[in-house]
Amino acid sequence: MNIHFVGGAQEVGGSCSVVEVGARRILVDCGQRMGGGAEVDRLPDLQRVQELGGLDAILVTHAHADHIGALPLIHLAFPKVPLHTSEATLAPMRIMLADSLKIMQMRWLQEAEIPLYPEHPVTSMLARTEVVRPGDVFDLCEGELQATFLLSGHVLGACSLTLDTAEGRVFFTGD
Ligand SMILES: [Zn+2]
Repeated sequence: MNIHFVGGAQEVGGSCSVVEVGARRILVDCGQRMGGGAEVDRLPDLQRVQELGGLDAILVTHAHADHIGALPLIHLAFPKVPLHTSEATLAPMRIMLADSLKIMQMRWLQEAEIPLYPEHPVTSMLARTEVVRPGDVFDLCEGELQATFLLSGHVLGACSLTLDTAEGRVFFTGD
């Protein structure tokens, strides 16, 4: 098993990890870097995800922007990859991503700052998201891996995540 920290790890913000087990790759969260000025690169190293050879599933622990803010770009690159999260994370995700679109549109009009993504990947990603009940074990990759979300109390809907694989178990707190 390899775990690639595409963002986050040595910083606060931009959380984005890829768990690689055999030929399978699972993305856990994909957020933006928060704070700082216009010079800050907002995005995790999404090129790295391409270089790793793509994704089989996307799991979202909670709806903070530093964990979901770059998901629409991942969805643009991998539109067929299923996304899983809890219902109570999906609900604020809808609101926050709609709000991000509004803010990016405003910054484009006022400061000519180019938006990170257009509206259509947000709509299509939310439509494809599969809701999982915290505590339920669910299959990924045709049953090669099992995942379990457990409520962590960090924010509404927030979950920690356990991945059970042929090469052992990995646990993400979420935050
Ligand atoms: Zn958080």
